[in-house]
Amino acid sequence: MGLLDRGVEIKTPEQIEKMRVAGLLVGQTLEVLRAAVRPGISTGELDAIAEQSIRDGGGIPSFLGYGHPPFPATICASVNDEVVHGIPGERVLAEGDLISIDCGAIVDGWHGDAAITVPVGEVGEDLVALMRVTEGAMWAGFAAARLGGRVTDISHAVESYVRRQPHPSGGSYGILEDYTGHGIGTAMHQPPNVPNHGRPGRGPKLQRGLALAVEPMVTLGGHDTLVAEDDWTIVTTDGSWAAHFEHTFTLMPEGAWILTALDGGRARLAELGVPYGGLD
Ligand code: MG
Ligand code: MG
Repeated sequence: MGLLDRGVEIKTPEQIEKMRVAGLLVGQTLEVLRAAVRPGISTGELDAIAEQSIRDGGGIPSFLGYGHPPFPATICASVNDEVVHGIPGERVLAEGDLISIDCGAIVDGWHGDAAITVPVGEVGEDLVALMRVTEGAMWAGFAAARLGGRVTDISHAVESYVRRQPHPSGGSYGILEDYTGHGIGTAMHQPPNVPNHGRPGRGPKLQRGLALAVEPMVTLGGHDTLVAEDDWTIVTTDGSWAAHFEHTFTLMPEGAWILTALDGGRARLAELGVPYGGLD
């Protein structure tokens, strides 16, 4: 391993299979939450559903008690101009809102981390485009990842994808630069960072046993953000609305394995012409 690889946790094949168990629990929990999102439900109710799902599946919520001040919930629930790290509570979702739900679980000491953005009832065309672009950028990142490549090959692919998409009102999308994807394994956040912008060919080598969370955060406006008074919620400075998608993935000898996707990423990777390397 070179200097750039310092602190990178390389998992054995058996450990990657344990990460798949954690990843599946996160993926299943997010699907339960997606189905539960509707006008009139509170973010606190969604949080309770998530905690039940994770504990029923034999996991522990990763976010609960994380950081300083300790994060007080199982999910991050970020609504409209909140990008990430929103604290669930009394807020009731209304028709036309956009909610980003980030969820992490630990099973047998191994972490999974994933996020989805979900429309509340019917939302505007601009928000539909925002979600499509953000999710598409994440998949473009996976498609650019190759054994022997470098971490910022992913970053470059994410940014390039977003920049190629037409903006609904002729402006340009904002890509957050202050928050990034990350390595993941025995801890939720490990080296290396996986930025959502930048030049390719840099950072640690993409090698077997490395697991990464790729998570573009994209807005309809600027990329500048503020931390709200609760010390957690990240909101856009210009009030523009945001989307956030995330999956945990790894590279196997045969191809990519999306550890938090229910199908391992098989369907979406096939659409992109990317080999699937999962074991299930
Ligand atoms: Mg996350
Ligand atoms: Mg993450």
